[in-house]
Amino acid sequence: MKYLSTRGAAPAADFETVLTAGLAPDGGLHVPDAFPTIAADEIAGFAGAPYADVAARVLAQFTGDAFSNERLQEMARDAYGGFAHADVAPLTQVGDEDWILELFHGPTLAFKDFAMQLLGRLFDDVLERRGRRLTVIAATSGDTGAAAIHALAPCRRAGVVVLHPEGRVTDVQRRMMTNIDAPNVLNIAVDGDFDACQAIVKKLFADRDFADSVHLSGVNSINWARLAAQTVYYFTAAAALDGGAPINFVVPTGNFGDVYAGFVAKQMGLNVGMLGIATNANSILHNTLATGDYRPAGVRKTLSPSMDIQVASNFERLLYNAMGCDGAAIRARMEDFARDGVLNIPADALASIKGDFCSEAVTDDMTLAEIRNHYEQTGELIDPHTAVGRAAAQALRASGRIEGRTVTLSTAHPAKFPEAVKKATGKEPALPAAWAGLFDQHEYMERAPADAQAIAAVIRKQFG
Ligand SMILES: *Cc1c(COP(=O)(O)O)cnc(C)c1O
Repeated sequence: MKYLSTRGAAPAADFETVLTAGLAPDGGLHVPDAFPTIAADEIAGFAGAPYADVAARVLAQFTGDAFSNERLQEMARDAYGGFAHADVAPLTQVGDEDWILELFHGPTLAFKDFAMQLLGRLFDDVLERRGRRLTVIAATSGDTGAAAIHALAPCRRAGVVVLHPEGRVTDVQRRMMTNIDAPNVLNIAVDGDFDACQAIVKKLFADRDFADSVHLSGVNSINWARLAAQTVYYFTAAAALDGGAPINFVVPTGNFGDVYAGFVAKQMGLNVGMLGIATNANSILHNTLATGDYRPAGVRKTLSPSMDIQVASNFERLLYNAMGCDGAAIRARMEDFARDGVLNIPADALASIKGDFCSEAVTDDMTLAEIRNHYEQTGELIDPHTAVGRAAAQALRASGRIEGRTVTLSTAHPAKFPEAVKKATGKEPALPAAWAGLFDQHEYMERAPADAQAIAAVIRKQFG
C-alpha cells in the first residue's frame, strides 16, 4: 500500500512516513492509493471476536510491511487492554432499530483514545527501531489533547505538545491534559479558538526549519493512522448486527475525522448505509451539503465544545474521493479556498457526496432537551456530543433521510461535560474511580498568544 497526497504533488509514501509525518509535503493530506477491501465472510467472522484482534486485522490492511501481524496484534491488545469495558466498544440497543455505540471507555473517556492508544504503541515501535526522536504536536478542541498526552507520555522517544483554546474546553477536559508532570509533555493554553490552534499547527509544519529542528510530527485527525484505527469500531458494530439491510451510522462531527472513517469502512466493503453528519451550531458541513458551498464562519461556543470547529480538515479527503482522486483539481480548489474563504463543490461531486452522507444541525436547546429526554426514557446520562448525535438521528429518521437500522456514536463520557448534563437533568455525572482526585491535582501548562512564532519559541525552550 502506497499513500498519495490529496493535492497530487507529493512523492508516494509508505505507512511509517504517513504515521510520523503530519501533513504531506505539498500541504495536502495523505490518502491510500486505493482502498483495501475485506471480504464479506471475513467481516461476518468479526462478530464476537476480541476487539483487539479485529483491530489488528483491519489495521494490517493499511500498514504495508511496517509491522508483522503478530506485532500488530500484540500492540492492539496492549492498547485496548486498558479500556474499562470488556467489549471495548459496546453496542447498546435503545429502540427498535436504534443502537448507541459507546466509545468512551478508554483512559481519557472520549473516542479519541481508540486511535491515540494504538498510535502511542506504533510510534514507540517505529522510533525505537529507527533510533529516532519526534515531537508530536496536536491542536485540541478538548479531547484529543488528553488522549494524546496519556498515550504518548510513556514513550521514551516522543515529546508531546498540545495547544488548546484557553477557556473553551471544560474544566474536566483541561485537567485531564494538564495533570501530568513530565519532561516530554507540554500543554499550551492559546488565546484563540480551535481553528486558530489548528492554523498554528499547520504554520509550524510549513516552517521547515522549525519543523526539522524539533522533528515535528502530528496526531490530529489529519494523520491517516488515526482514521485507520477509527474504522475498526464501524466493523465491530456492523458485524455485531449481522447481515441484512445496510446499517446507518450517525456521528457527532467536528473535524470530519470520525465520520470519514465510517466512509472508509464502507469503501472497504462494510455494509454501511447512510452516514449522518451531526453538527452543533457550527453547522458548516450541514450548510455545505445543502448549498454546495463550503464557507467557514466564526467559531461559535456551544455545549458540545469538542465540535466547536469550522474548518473541518478531513473534508479535503472526501472532496478528493468525490472528485475522482484528481489531486491537481483539489490543489486548485484549495488555493481558491485560501484566497476567497469559500470552496465551491462541483455539482457531480456534491451529488456523489450526498449518496453517502446526510446531515443535521442541532442547537444547544435541542441538545439539552435530548439529554433530558434520554435520561427520562432510559435512566442513562449521555454527554452533549452524543446528544447532538441522538437528536440528529431522530430528525434524519423523522424526515425519511435515513431508514432502518441506525447506530449513533457516543463519543464521550457524560462526566467530561458535567455542566451541560446537570443543566439538562439536575444530575451530576460521576467521574470513574480512576479519575478520583482530579480536581486536587496540580496543573502544568504554559500560556501563549495565538501566534505561531510565539508558540514556536515556547516549544523550542522545552524541546529545542
Ligand atoms: C473530537 C470529538 C468529536 C468530533 O470528531 P471529529 O473526528 O473531529 O469529527 C465529537 N465528539 C467528541 C466528544 C469529540 O472529542
